[in-house]
Amino acid sequence: MISASLPAAEKRSVALGMKRGAALRCPNCGEGHLYRKYLKVQVCEVCGNDNTRYPADDAPPYFTILLVGHLVVAPMLFFPWIWQANVWLVLGTVMPALLIATLALLPVVKGAVVGLHWALEPRHAVEEA
Ligand SMILES: [Zn+2]
Repeated sequence: MISASLPAAEKRSVALGMKRGAALRCPNCGEGHLYRKYLKVQVCEVCGNDNTRYPADDAPPYFTILLVGHLVVAPMLFFPWIWQANVWLVLGTVMPALLIATLALLPVVKGAVVGLHWALEPRHAVEEA
């Protein structure tokens, strides 16, 4: 609906949708907020695009765990401190850090998934024809 007002180059690009979603913005206009709570997707208050119709399901937690596991946990295992320090000290410091990293990354990844769905929405292809 509103996408008709966008320039042709900006219409439903995967990179654009994922970039806007990862920035926690509406993938359709890039202005409105994607969430009204921590992970509760809302209808855009700027362009009116119903962002709730893009199902993210289990993809955001999966990709978040994948990213945190590969970018944080795996490199952390190369530090000798992890293997030499008291296990309770390691768990007491590493687990809260991993929790914070995971909870901080989850909305970003979910936004990117919603942006991907926005870009690949099949109904849009019908409207274009
Ligand atoms: Zn919008």
